[in-house]
Amino acid sequence: MPTFVIALQLKIFTTKNELQQYLSEVRASGKTTGFVPTMGALHQGHLSLLAQARQQTDVTVCSIFVNPTQFNDPKDLDKYPRPIAADTEKLQQAGCDILFNPPVTEIYAGDEHWHLDIGELEHLLEGEFRPGHYQGVMQVVHKLFDIVKPDAAFFGQKDYQQFMVISRMVSQLQMPVKLVMCPIEREPDGLAMSSRNIHLTIDDRRHALILSKALYQAQASFDPAHPEAAKQQAEQMITSEPGTQLEYFAIADGDTLHPANPKSTKIVALVAAKVGATRLIDNVIIK
Ligand code: AMP
Repeated sequence: MPTFVIALQLKIFTTKNELQQYLSEVRASGKTTGFVPTMGALHQGHLSLLAQARQQTDVTVCSIFVNPTQFNDPKDLDKYPRPIAADTEKLQQAGCDILFNPPVTEIYAGDEHWHLDIGELEHLLEGEFRPGHYQGVMQVVHKLFDIVKPDAAFFGQKDYQQFMVISRMVSQLQMPVKLVMCPIEREPDGLAMSSRNIHLTIDDRRHALILSKALYQAQASFDPAHPEAAKQQAEQMITSEPGTQLEYFAIADGDTLHPANPKSTKIVALVAAKVGATRLIDNVIIK
């Protein structure tokens, strides 16, 4: 007997109106929606968020939108990969229900002002090296939540500070959405998957491994009585790796991102470095 595989069709929307109309029918039928916002160039990390969304909600929406307001370097925005045909195919294969892929004009009508005061969180670590970045992230996530109105939204631990920033926005503005943090997907040798990895040369790719190695070393050697020791050792490892320029290595309290202290109930090690011309971030949870 022949077997038939019924592939459910991925619905693609490029305008808010059509998407909202479709989603209002979904909601009216009593189904829950799970949302995975991305900037595309999809890899297994993104697809793991989608898998979580599929497990926890009835209808999954993935957005692909390279958000100009979160880039502080215009060259970085220009060279951001945009393989939309391959991405669409991956979403179809992964069983995603809806792709929202708007042009910039659909999201930003023109110059507009956005600022939400979330305190010092936006200025620490990533915020120090990418001023304004988290305002741009909050601006676009706020808009996307407003359009999609998801029951739950799925983000990666890969962008740990981003998750904290979005959680802060959601609680300050009392937005009715559940946020879910999903673990980091890595290459077999430990490199955290990232859309930016395609920019790494063969040499960069080898050097980039020092980031996860240093994080795991810090995780293994962390002694709460001497938190500085593990940090210094990790910094030493990264600064002695050729082709690698360390921006920060922090062993931080997982709730405040200040240096971990003996009272910290959550501790996370976070790193950012340029490897060749590519800026990479990664982290591991220590406690
Ligand atoms: P991006 O397309 O880089 O904006 O990422 C979209 C979402 O995918 C964010 O919530 C990221 O944290 C998440 N993500 C990116 N890389 C990974 C990874 N290696 N593992 C898990 N989630 C990831």
